[in-house]
Amino acid sequence: MADFFPQEIIRKKRDGQALEPQEIEFFVRGLTDESITEGQIAALAMAVFFRGMSMDERVALTRAMTHSGRVLDWSNAGFDGPVVDKHSSGGVGDKVSLVLAPVLAACGAFVPMISGRGLGHTGGTLDKLEAIPGYDAKPDEAKLRRVLGEAGCAIIGQTSDVAPADRRFYAIRDVTATVESVPLITASILSKKLAAGLDRLVMDVKWGSGAFCDTFEMAEELAASIVAVAGGAGLPSSALVTDMNQVLGLTAGNAIETREAIAHLRGESREPRLHEVTVELCAELLVGVRLATDLDAARAKIEAVLANGSAADHFARMVTALGGPGDLLERPDHHLPHPAVERAVHPPRSAFVHRVDARAIGITVMALGGGRHRADDEIDPLVGLSDWVPVGAEVGPDRPICRVHARTESAAEEATARLLAAVELADAPPETTPAISKRLPG
Ligand code: URA
Repeated sequence: MADFFPQEIIRKKRDGQALEPQEIEFFVRGLTDESITEGQIAALAMAVFFRGMSMDERVALTRAMTHSGRVLDWSNAGFDGPVVDKHSSGGVGDKVSLVLAPVLAACGAFVPMISGRGLGHTGGTLDKLEAIPGYDAKPDEAKLRRVLGEAGCAIIGQTSDVAPADRRFYAIRDVTATVESVPLITASILSKKLAAGLDRLVMDVKWGSGAFCDTFEMAEELAASIVAVAGGAGLPSSALVTDMNQVLGLTAGNAIETREAIAHLRGESREPRLHEVTVELCAELLVGVRLATDLDAARAKIEAVLANGSAADHFARMVTALGGPGDLLERPDHHLPHPAVERAVHPPRSAFVHRVDARAIGITVMALGGGRHRADDEIDPLVGLSDWVPVGAEVGPDRPICRVHARTESAAEEATARLLAAVELADAPPETTPAISKRLPG
């Protein structure tokens, strides 16, 4: 590989010029082997933040970061279906993955879902699953292949050899105010997904008060960037832009969200917005890999595997194969932790829920102990919120907004005050927004 000077690459981007693929590859190599300093990486990130990157530059960055580590290859795994995954930009109460992966497996796809832990106000899928006793989120590759063969899906954590360039780059962006750059987010997300050896990806890009993209426009821009760059890097994809201006589903927390996902899979309760987002993301993938002829056929297939228990069965098989209890679905209350204190949050008067600050709700869960301030913080699996009402619901002294699950009375009291401040009431019902704001076909 040709040698370049990092400062010349930074200068070029600083002055608004496009970088050549070889320059990007050189930079990513230096990022991975640490021959380029943290200061130089931060400077390039800031230059990209202000000057942007063309689609070709984004594809080159994504490809270089993908190949900075191990790239999984399923061609000799003996799977009789396509390998697919979904990625979400993150939200409050977002337990879609826990339902989606087994649904897709029950429909004939294979889902090696590499998930993250929660940081800040949004939860992480891995934290929700790690509330299950015995669940091994770090299997080696041989075990991952076995679990996928047995269950069709495996939701696990990222290993250190997948896209190591992204790990160093993200850590530096995190402390230099350069995370919120669409080209850099695109390459960061896609490098990890390309390294998972997928046949197809669907993106759930969320917008709103509980999302990383606070405006619809930013989410739309990110979704379009991801679909274009994924295609350019050889990964067919499509995206949904979805609403994150309220909690998704009935719960927010860790064990409590796993309970909701189990109830959803078993048909005991299916909150409509959570259901719609999950079904539509699954349908995008099933049509994309030709396991269904069109979206309506895909929706019918998804409803069928939920109704006949096959999706729940795939979830149970995944949990058991990864070391969790064999009867988790039959006895979730026996295996998942319970809070010491549970109390209803009553509004001060009878009214309609007009608007909620979903970010403040996520921060309330974090303050209860359910989230992290720093990447190495421990989380408390049992705390959180349940029975959350949707925007537009009528609440009152006998109709609570939600229930708080806490360790102590004082934590529950503090959470109640925060939640009441996060909910805006009105005398008339508001206009409700659809759960799915936009569809971006691949
Ligand atoms: N999630 C990622 O994986 N990377 C980013 O840059 C932002 C969100």
